[in-house]
Amino acid sequence: MENKYDILILGGGAAGFFSALNIAEYAPQKRIAILERGKDVLTKVKVSGGGRCNVTHAEFIPKELSKQYPRGEKELLGPFHSFMTGDTIAWFEKRGVALKIEEDGRMFPVTDSSQTIIDCFTSEAERLGVAVLKGQAVKDIQKQEDEWLLRTATESFTAKMLVMASGSNPKIWNLLSNLGHKIIPPVPSLFTFNINDSRIADLPGIATNATVQVVDKNGKSLLASEGPLLITHWGMSGPAILKLSAWGARILEPTDYHFDIIVNWLLDASEEETLEMLIDLKGVNPKQTLIKYPQFDLPKRLWQNLLMASGITAEDIWAEISKKKLQNIANTLTKSGFQVTGKSTFKEEFVTAGGVDLKEVNFKTFESKLHKNLYFAGEILNIDAITGGFNFQNAWTGGYMVAKAIAEKTL
Ligand SMILES: Cc1cc2nc3c(=O)[nH]c(=O)nc-3n(C[C@H](O)[C@H](O)[C@H](O)COP(=O)(O)OP(=O)(O)OC[C@H]3O[C@@H](n4cnc5c(N)ncnc54)[C@H](O)[C@@H]3O)c2cc1C
Repeated sequence: MENKYDILILGGGAAGFFSALNIAEYAPQKRIAILERGKDVLTKVKVSGGGRCNVTHAEFIPKELSKQYPRGEKELLGPFHSFMTGDTIAWFEKRGVALKIEEDGRMFPVTDSSQTIIDCFTSEAERLGVAVLKGQAVKDIQKQEDEWLLRTATESFTAKMLVMASGSNPKIWNLLSNLGHKIIPPVPSLFTFNINDSRIADLPGIATNATVQVVDKNGKSLLASEGPLLITHWGMSGPAILKLSAWGARILEPTDYHFDIIVNWLLDASEEETLEMLIDLKGVNPKQTLIKYPQFDLPKRLWQNLLMASGITAEDIWAEISKKKLQNIANTLTKSGFQVTGKSTFKEEFVTAGGVDLKEVNFKTFESKLHKNLYFAGEILNIDAITGGFNFQNAWTGGYMVAKAIAEKTL
C-alpha cells in the first residue's frame, strides 16, 4: 500500500515535531505526516533535563548563542537571526506553555515537567491535522523523478518534500551516505570524567569554581574551560567539565578517554600570586592551624584534602610552614594534575557530535545542496552544543527554518 503526502517528516522527535507543526501552520492545505519508528514519539523530550525538559537558554544575542555550539557555531549564526530564544519563548507562550528562567540561564516549563511540552506538541499536531504514524521504521529512501519514496517493513510512503529529523541514527546516516551525503563519524559529547584520586575520593557533592585544562603528554594545554566543577562518586562533572567534553569531543575519543587534566582551584590566580597570598596569610595568622580554616573561599573538606596532598598535617600552624611547603601548597591549589581514566554518561543531557556534513547544507533553508526538496533539522546534522538547553534550541531553529523554506516554496 502506498501513502501519498505532500511532506514527510522522518522522525518524531523535537526537530521533527517542530518542523511539522510550523509547516502545517504556514501551509495548512498540505498533507503532512511524521514517520516514527518507536511506539511513542518525543521520547528524548520526555527524559530530557532530568524529566523537566530544558527547552532553551536565556541568551538573547545571536552571536553569543552561536558560541555555545562546538559544531555549528558558524552555520547557526544566520538562522539565529531568524529564530532564536525569544522566538522559542513566544512560540510556546502562544500555545499556552509558559517558560521560566533559572539562575544559571536554563529555561524550563513552569510546570517543571517535560510532559507539558509533549502534550503541547501532540495536541497541536491533532489541531493542525498532522498525521503522526508510529511503529514506522524507515528502511529505505529513494529519490524518484519528482518525489521521495520511503519504505518501512510493511508500507511505502511518497511525498514531494522530505524532512530528515531522525537524530543521531547510524542507519539513517547510512541511507544518506548512499544518497551521496558525507557523514562526519559520530563520537559522544557531553560526558563526565572518571578520576580515581585520593584528593577527591571522599568529596562527592562538593562544588567550586575552577579552571580546568586538558594537557598533552608534555603538559601543553590543548583545551581549557572555567566554571563550576562538581566532584562526583566517579570523578568530576559540572559545567567546567561538560564544556571540555563538548569542545574536546573529537580529540578525546582517540585517547579512549585516558588523558591528563590540570585543575586551578583558584580559577585564574597564578602559582606565584598564590605563594604571595600564602606568605601574607602566614604573617597575619601565625598561630592558626592551617587545616581548620579554609582560605580562598574553598569548601572546607576540599581545602583540607589539598593541604594534606601538599604535605601539611592536621597540627601544622602557619608559623611553622617553610617556604618550600608554601610553594607546594601554591602548586597544588593552582596546578593539581589528575589522570582521567574513562568517561561516564551525564544523565541530564547527552548528545552525539557528528552527522551530515554542514558543507552540504544551505543554512538559509536547511535544504540539502545535493538533492532538491531534501531538508535536515536537529541532531542529524553535525551540530551539537554544550549543556543548558542549546541542543533543543538547535532543533527549534532548524525546524522553523525548514518550515519557512518549505512554505515559501509550496505557496
Ligand atoms: C537523556 C537526555 C537528556 C537531554 N536533555 C536535554 C535538555 O534538557 N535540553 C537540551 O537542549 N537537550 C537535551 N538533550 C539533547 C536533545 O534531546 C537532543 O539534542 C534532541 O532531542 C535532538 O532532537 P532530534 O529531533 O534531532 O532527535 P531525536 O530527539 O533523537 O528524535 C529523532 C527521532 O527519530 C526517530 N527515528 C530514528 N530513526 C528512525 C527511522 N529509521 N524511522 C523512523 N523514525 C526514526 C527516533 O526514534 C526519534 O524519535 C538530551 C538528550 C538526552 C539523551
